[in-house]
Amino acid sequence: MSEAAAERCHVNLETIVSLCKRRGIIFPGSEIYEGLAGTYDYGPIGIELKRNVRDAWWRSMIYERDDVEGLESAILMNPRTWKASGHVDTFSDPLSDSLGPSRKRYRADHIEETECTAYRVINATEEANPVAYGKAEIWAGSKKKAKEFYEAYWKKHLGITDERVKLEEVEGSTRKGRFSPDDGGVLTEPRPFNLMLQTQLGPVADSAATVYLRPETAQGMFVNFSNVQASMRRKLPFGIAQNGKSFRNEITPKNFIFRTREFEQMEMEFFCKPGELCREGERNDMDWFAHWIEYRLAWHIRYGLKKEHLRVHYQAANELAHYSKACGDIEFLFPIGWNELEGVANRTNYDLKQHMEFSGKDLQYFDPELNAHYIPYVIEPALGVDRACLAFLTDAYTEEQVKEDKRVVLKLHRDLAPIKCAVFPLLKNRPEIVAMAKNLCRDLKQSFYAVYDDTAAIGKLYRRQDEIGTPFCVTVDVESLEDQAVTIRERDSMQQIRLGVDKVREYVAEELRKARG
Ligand code: ATP
Repeated sequence: MSEAAAERCHVNLETIVSLCKRRGIIFPGSEIYEGLAGTYDYGPIGIELKRNVRDAWWRSMIYERDDVEGLESAILMNPRTWKASGHVDTFSDPLSDSLGPSRKRYRADHIEETECTAYRVINATEEANPVAYGKAEIWAGSKKKAKEFYEAYWKKHLGITDERVKLEEVEGSTRKGRFSPDDGGVLTEPRPFNLMLQTQLGPVADSAATVYLRPETAQGMFVNFSNVQASMRRKLPFGIAQNGKSFRNEITPKNFIFRTREFEQMEMEFFCKPGELCREGERNDMDWFAHWIEYRLAWHIRYGLKKEHLRVHYQAANELAHYSKACGDIEFLFPIGWNELEGVANRTNYDLKQHMEFSGKDLQYFDPELNAHYIPYVIEPALGVDRACLAFLTDAYTEEQVKEDKRVVLKLHRDLAPIKCAVFPLLKNRPEIVAMAKNLCRDLKQSFYAVYDDTAAIGKLYRRQDEIGTPFCVTVDVESLEDQAVTIRERDSMQQIRLGVDKVREYVAEELRKARG
């Protein structure tokens, strides 16, 4: 990802991370034990966002169409599944280690080859640090960069006590290769590292009991193809969709919830007729591939991602996975730069064919129109829930100047907003006002998620709700006791209207319904 692209995102990752922590959206996993790399916990506000993202996806993939069925398959599957799918033998990333003091591990395909020169660490006196003296080498594109690496890692690691350290270029050392972006160390030759996590089933820890935590939800759909097709009396084309946890022992989990070791996916396998069997004018696998890219792009835009922050990268032949005939990565301009948000792949009939071979079961489809059996082709849109949450948070994040103050507001689509309406009493020491506000909140909760809050002054309460994207805030004031009316303030326009307290539920519900379209 280029730095130029990263600059163009209107918000940096630290700002999002700190908002998430401050406002109960996302916390680092196992934080009191100094965390566990690649894990995050969703807080009370974050889990609502996540559920809403899942629901919005499920609605558009299942309820708003008539050609997709839902499924929830087990996370643990017979290990032969993963042999058949190719994950046991080929689901690996190239791993390299830095020979520098950080000893950090990298995905070699994430590190570009660059030209670097070796800089030798020279102490003023050999006695100050005999280890480093004249031996330690930092590979960097420039002396300035080498100095940065030195400050960040080498000084600390080598424990050099003499402050009068110099870096000296090693003559004739310039060469092209892969070097650590953290300490300038040379990277080892890449070696394959399988990303599947294993666990043991049953009381005996022998190899027969070893199972994998699924690295994708897709295989659950493939192994259930015949079950769903027969039980739901489906004809091609049709899809099977599911949402659930996946696990990958990522070499370098990083960038907050963008790449974690435990994450959630929303995937759909759309079974269709291979192109060569299609009659003229009939949609073939590549037509469905194009359809799903358009359909998924439209979903992201519908729920708030900006068109100009989305693009499709069509993989070239040498980038395609071995099972894939075509793949379009829907990329988003994340705070870390342009990166894959969702992948849409034409997986051909690879998976079903493999499962037929490994299970010995016939997974062919009988086509009554052609009076023939064949193995369907599959188009797969695969999206990460966590990555989607990060994308929605990014494009919703807005800073505005309101008079003298800076207002931070998450302009989330109303369907995704964690809390739909917050109710405040203007004066919390007036029991009649508090009671009226609490009653109203109780009433609202029957239709959508509403909260009552009186833990700060009104201005602060508004700001809190803005920061988590609550579309409506209602204030009960002294006058409300007289006229039975309250003030409703809309998040984005900050416009306020006065409405009868008995009309609030209907009003907000209607506004939420309109936003869904
Ligand atoms: P990447 O190239 O980023 O590792 P991938 O191409 O391996 O991703 P897929 O196997 O196509 O990803 O998975 C589909 C989607 O699942 C991705 O587009 C992404 O949204 C999500 N995803 C994959 N790996 C992770 C992860 N480690 N953490 C969070 N989300 C992930």
